[in-house]
Amino acid sequence: MRKLIVANWKENPATEKAAAKLFHEVAKMKRTHADVVVCPPFVYLEEVTTAYRAMRASARKNFAIGAQDAFWEETGAFTSEVGPGMIKSLGARYVIIGHSERRKYLEETDLMINKKISLALKDGLRVILCVGESVTIRKRGFAAAKKFVSEQLRKDLRHIKKPVIVAYEPVWAIGTGKNDTPEDAAAMAKFIKSRNAKRISCVLYGGSVNSRDAGDYVQYKEIGGALVGGASLRALEFKKIISTNYGKS
Ligand code: PEP
Repeated sequence: MRKLIVANWKENPATEKAAAKLFHEVAKMKRTHADVVVCPPFVYLEEVTTAYRAMRASARKNFAIGAQDAFWEETGAFTSEVGPGMIKSLGARYVIIGHSERRKYLEETDLMINKKISLALKDGLRVILCVGESVTIRKRGFAAAKKFVSEQLRKDLRHIKKPVIVAYEPVWAIGTGKNDTPEDAAAMAKFIKSRNAKRISCVLYGGSVNSRDAGDYVQYKEIGGALVGGASLRALEFKKIISTNYGKS
């Protein structure tokens, strides 16, 4: 099975010029073993999708653009929000929803996330739903972490029928340089899939993944790929991550 590697640029890079440069570097990387999705900030989405659409069809193979969020209304008096239809109209195909940084800094709730997923799927975007437990919960043990993640999935996927991609990202491992063990990440991915087999197309792992350890996670058949933050901003590092052969599982 081909793996899926998603680049979450977060609030980076600092200028449009730097975003265009990074995009062009990623666009010319070989994608022999993995499908690649690049998720720039909204402000660069038009620049990136325009460059993407200008590429030859063969060069766009196994490559797509995504957004980092989408609102639960298409249009209206919702200052600064961006609807999934707008994202789709630019040529982006994926959207990350429920990232832990949005849950933490913007107090995004499971109900808001559920509404966002519902509209994004209706509009035909592929949703990457982020779930994961805090360090406080993990300290209570793996069973507590599973219970928390299961509850997030229950609320976030309420009444959702179409399949989504789930990114399991233990909050304490994001941008911290700390990692879950590959065994636990694979066990959690298996648990997530087993709970919601029909509504989850695959489970990615995310949390300080880099070129040295990506294979430790992605080699597992339970793990469909990786959501990569910091390391996706360094072209050479990202190239190593996407060009590794993670096996046939
Ligand atoms: C992320 O943005 O989802 C993420 C996992 O970030 P990082 O790789 O920097 O931990």
